[in-house]
Order: sequence, then C-alpha cells, then structure tokens
Amino acid sequence: MSDRLLHTRNIGIMAHIDAGKTTTTERMLYYTGTNYRIGEVHEGTATMDWMPQEQERGITITSAATTVFWNVNDQKYKINIIDTPGHVDFTVEVERSLRILDGGVVVFCSVGGVEPQSETVWRQADKYGVPRICFVNKMDRMGADFFHVVNEIKEKLNARPLIVQIPIGEEASFKGVVDLLENKALVWIDDDSQGENFEECEVPESLLQMVKEYRTKLIETVVEEDENLMNKYFSDAESITVEELKAVIRKATINLKLVPVLCGSSLRNKAVQPVLDAVVDYLPCPLDLPPVYGTDTSDNKVQVKPDEDAPFSALSFKIQIDPYVGKLVFFRVYSGKFVAGSQFLNVNTGKKERMSKILQMHANKQNPLTEILAGDIAAGVGFKDIRTGDTLCDVAHPILLENIVFPEPVVKIAIEAKKQEDVDKLTQALEKTSEEDPTFTYGVDSETGQLVVSGMGELHLDIVLDRLMRNYNIACSKGRPQVAYKEAVSETIKHRELYKKQTGGRGKFADIEFELGPADDGVNGLQFIDDTKGGVIPAAFIPAIEKGFKSAMQNGVLLGYPLNSLKVRLIDGSIHEVDSDALSFEIAAGIGFRNACRKAKPVLLEPIMKVEVVSPADYIGDITGDLNQRRAQITKMETRGHLQVLHVNAPLSEMFGYISALRNISSGRGTFSMEFSHYAVPPRTITEDVIYKIKGYKVDF
Ligand code: GDP
Repeated sequence: MSDRLLHTRNIGIMAHIDAGKTTTTERMLYYTGTNYRIGEVHEGTATMDWMPQEQERGITITSAATTVFWNVNDQKYKINIIDTPGHVDFTVEVERSLRILDGGVVVFCSVGGVEPQSETVWRQADKYGVPRICFVNKMDRMGADFFHVVNEIKEKLNARPLIVQIPIGEEASFKGVVDLLENKALVWIDDDSQGENFEECEVPESLLQMVKEYRTKLIETVVEEDENLMNKYFSDAESITVEELKAVIRKATINLKLVPVLCGSSLRNKAVQPVLDAVVDYLPCPLDLPPVYGTDTSDNKVQVKPDEDAPFSALSFKIQIDPYVGKLVFFRVYSGKFVAGSQFLNVNTGKKERMSKILQMHANKQNPLTEILAGDIAAGVGFKDIRTGDTLCDVAHPILLENIVFPEPVVKIAIEAKKQEDVDKLTQALEKTSEEDPTFTYGVDSETGQLVVSGMGELHLDIVLDRLMRNYNIACSKGRPQVAYKEAVSETIKHRELYKKQTGGRGKFADIEFELGPADDGVNGLQFIDDTKGGVIPAAFIPAIEKGFKSAMQNGVLLGYPLNSLKVRLIDGSIHEVDSDALSFEIAAGIGFRNACRKAKPVLLEPIMKVEVVSPADYIGDITGDLNQRRAQITKMETRGHLQVLHVNAPLSEMFGYISALRNISSGRGTFSMEFSHYAVPPRTITEDVIYKIKGYKVDF
C-alpha cells in the first residue's frame, strides 16, 4: 500500500449554516500552521470564506479546496479540506463536493443540535456513502447540551453515534474534553496562544464516575464490531490497547457502522486539535474506499485505482475565476500523476490542452507544485475550454470518469445594467460566471429583448448575481424570479411557406414545403430530414433552411420559450432563377416555423421537480395535503427509522417558497431536497393562466 496515500485525507466539513463550519475550518488552518492570524467570522476575515458577500451573509458557498498538514504520532498527514456549501439551494455544489471527498466532519451546534438543514446534509452524505465524524461545537454557549445532541444524532439521523469524548465543564466554564480512549483530560488554558497550548492531565474527580461509565459503553460498542476484540474483551479486557480500539473504530466508521462524536468550542479555541487527530485516526484514506469506475473508448467499464504508475485521470469539480491567475480549475486525481506544463486530454471536449501550473491552495494563497499524484486534490491553471465535471486524462489513455450530471437551470430572472456603459461589461461578466457555474446560464429573451439569467433556484441566482455585481462593480436591477418554461408542438402538420420580396433591384424569393411535428423519441434538438426530389431546391440552400429552423426553435410561438426538440421534413419547394439565395431560404424557414407551429398545436412545457420530503410521521398527513394542492404526485412513500419519506413529482411553479411552507407545517422538523426531473405539459387551464400572466392578454392556441 502506498505510504503517501495512507497519509492522505480528503475531507469535507459539513454543517447547517451557523453551526460554526467556517470558524472550525479556520481554526484547523491555524493549528496546522498555514494560517497565522485567526480571523473571526463576525469580523469577516476568515480564510475559507474569502468572497466578500459570503462574509456578509456569513455563509460559505464555494467549494474551494485547502491543503493542510497535521502530525499524529510523529507522522505527517496531508489533509485536503474541501469546502462544502451548506445551503439547500446549493445541493448540487454539495453533492459535487461529496463525490470527490472521502470523508466528512459534520459540525453541529451544541444548542441547536440537529437542525433541518443538518438532516439534509446528512442524508446527502448517506446517499454518497461518505464516512463521517461529528463535532458538537459551541460548547461554551448558554444551553449547550452535548448529550442531547448525541441523542438527536441517533434519533433524527438514524445514526449510531460513538461518544469518544465528554466535555469538561459547560457553557462559560467549558474547559476542554476527556478523551475516553486514552482516559485523559485535555484542558485548554486561557492564554495568548489562541488555544495552541493545552494540558494533558488526569480526569477531574468530579467526572471520574461518568468517564468510567462512558468509557465502558464505548469499549462495549467498539468490541461488538470485531470478533477478535470481542473475544479478547471476554478473556482479558484489560489487555485491549487504545490502538486496537482505534483500529476497530476506524474500520466501523469507514464501513458507515459508527460515527465518532467529539465536542469543543471553535470560537473559544478549545478542543479543535483533537478533531484533526480524529480525521487522521478515523476517516478513510483514498485506499480505504470502494474503487471508482470509468468508461474507456470501447465503452467498457474499467476500474480506476489510485495508483501513481497507472495512466493519469482526474475529475474537475470546481472552477473559479481568480483575480490574479485567471481560471482556476479544482480537480481530484484518481489515477497516475500529472506534471505541471504537460499535456492532457479533456475527454468531454475531446481537446488536448496544457496545464501550465498546478497550485496547492490555501484558501486564497497558492503554492505551486511540480507534479500531482493519484488521490490528491489541487487547482490547475492554463485551461481554455473546461467545465465542472469534465474528465482530464492521459492523452494516450482516454477514459471517462463518471460524469457529474447537472440539473437544468429552471428559474430565470430578467436583469438590466443600470448604467448604459456597463452593458458590455455585464455580458462579459455573465460569460465568465457561466463558465464557473454550469448551472448558471444567460441569454436574451427574444420577446422582451431583456437580458435573462437562469439558475437552479431563487437563492442560487440571488447569490450568483450578488457576487457578479460586486466582483465586477456593476449595478443591476432585477426582475422577479420566473419559471423557465419550454415549448413544443404536439401534432405533425404540413405547411408551405412562400417568401417573396420585390425591392428596387434584386428581390428575394424562397419557397418551401415541409412537415413539422414532434421529434422521434429520444431525439434532442432539431431532427431535420431533406426529402426533396429532383433538385427542386439546390443543395447549396438546404443548410440555410436547416439553420433557419434551428435558430427559430430558440423562440416558441406561445411565449418565446425554446423548443427542446422538433422534427422537420422538407418535402418540396421552388426557386427563382435570380432572386433566390441562401439568406432567403433561411428567412423562409424562420417565418415558416412560426406559421407552422401555430397550426401544430403548440404546448407549454413546465419543469417538474423530483422532490423528497422527510419528516416525522406526525406531520405527513398535512404535508401530503399541502403537496396535493401544489399539483404534486406522490410516487413513493417509505419509512426511515421513525421518519417518513415522501417521494413526489411537483411542478416547479408550485414550489416557490416551499421551504417556509414546509417549516410551518412540520414545526421545522421536515426537510426536503429538490432537483429537476423532466419537462411535462401542464393542464390547459394552467397554460392559459401562465400565458395570460406573461402576455397580459388571452391567446388562442
Ligand atoms: P458556518 O455558517 O457554519 O460557517 O458558521 P460560522 O463559523 O460562520 O459561525 C457562525 C456564528 O457562530 C459566528 O458568529 C461564530 O462566531 C459563532 N461561533 C462559531 N463557533 C462558535 C463557538 O464555538 N462558540 C460560540 N459561542 N459561537 C461560535
């Protein structure tokens, strides 16, 4: 086994907003020696949250990765900390980072405990099988209750918490923790060392009984996970060593059987170092996890092992535009190695590119590397054409790692630069932003001429736009969020379009006859078939006709929303010897498209979301009632522990503001996640309403 990999941890810190994720990360950076000034979040200087509006909102949005080093038993470990965003609207970012990390530290507030959003994050980690440890933070706060939180982890999250520490003192008198495995107290002294100095001492008298009880519980739970240790426990319990216990805890954590729980107070600089020890002790290294698979050029599934000598393969998981070095691409290397300055293949674009620099990131500081090896995470510079989720690999060994699938941007907002001179700057800024975030797109609404941005949710767009305006110093006005509909035709019809214009000199002439209707199943975009006979339309004009239809599809006839797919079969036409040219045919196709669509029973398509609602059983009746009113269809219902899980499909237009509705119905206990599922035709009355709302008058269609 690679010694280097045994000493590598790729972890994420996950939490409900406000639980103290940023503060905890910041302390970790400090104690690992890479950060020399502790930045308090409330002062807005914490290192991970380096984007101004994140500091203002006090939430962490970006998924930047930071590398730190930590010594345990005189061995040096490299820990890559992947910053996971904590807000529901950023589930894609959270899931994206969950894919590339190996383990997680889940931070809870000792007062708030397991809050709805912690449940969401926890369930996402369950989905990706991410081994976890828990850190119950804010032990210094009034009302701090460590054991209550542990109980909630068991009850609400259905996990098996393993108490490996108990707090010494509480609230204002919180001093440190008892390490139950070592049977020792760790006490932080209030001095100028920002918590760097602490004492290892005997367990205080007052806690002896409690420590004995919890230590016994701990050992009993651990030995149950390992037959050998269990035998030893019954024959000679005293001979069990801390190392043996740790090894079994590690195995059980990685196999998702147990979740070690620690506690402390990041803000007061107490008990953060043991969390770093626990990351090393209990969270997996890249070799501990099930293998990753990719697809080779012959469509065979191949295993990708974290082997330095294998061909290089990596997955990009985050793109950020850095004000100094330009485009920074964060990637995780799954196999082989990559030397800075050399070439790689981007399998998704099919292009060979050169990565000029590899940087190991410490939040917004950067350390250049000459090479990067399997199992490691870094940022690269020099990319031209890349998107999040692309596979980078050895030019001679193409392999596609499982791609990250991004949801369709389903919410849109019209925006406008307040100052005329900012108009161009705004378009450039939008272009850069959409490069960084594949779930963010922009375009011009053909009906209104407005600039429209689209994203995954209201908050997503809010934050992206905020960031954009701030970073590029552009003042914008924004409209209200709207659903990004699509359009389609539901019948196949025949249509003839004659385009004729006689101006002073040479005129325009194009004549086409075609069938227009829904595309065949599974076809995306324009399915264009030229079935003309005998050269009635010269071959040179055919591409112009196809082009005309293709661009016309961007604007449907009902409300100007794009059509995802369409079939056009060109059957006949004629030309004028002098007046016909390619442009005439392109224009004829555009006009013909609009006239034909009106006859082909156009329909609006609305985004349907796949929604998962989790709640204690008591509230399920009310939740279902409310969902019915939102035109939701229940597809599945299941029980998870004492929780009920509802799987429903619901139209996005009915789900605006659902977060607060659910909170009200379930007294804050219900959580939900929502992702795009598909487009569907709404009932006719709904379409009429939507058209009326947008156009301001009734349309016959
Ligand atoms: P995040 O949203 O999870 O990243 O949380 P932050 O690290 O931004 O912390 C949220 C708030 O809780 C900030 O005002 C912190 O100063 C405060 N905080 C963080 N850790 C502690 C702690 O250990 N004790 C107390 N009392 N407050 C804390």
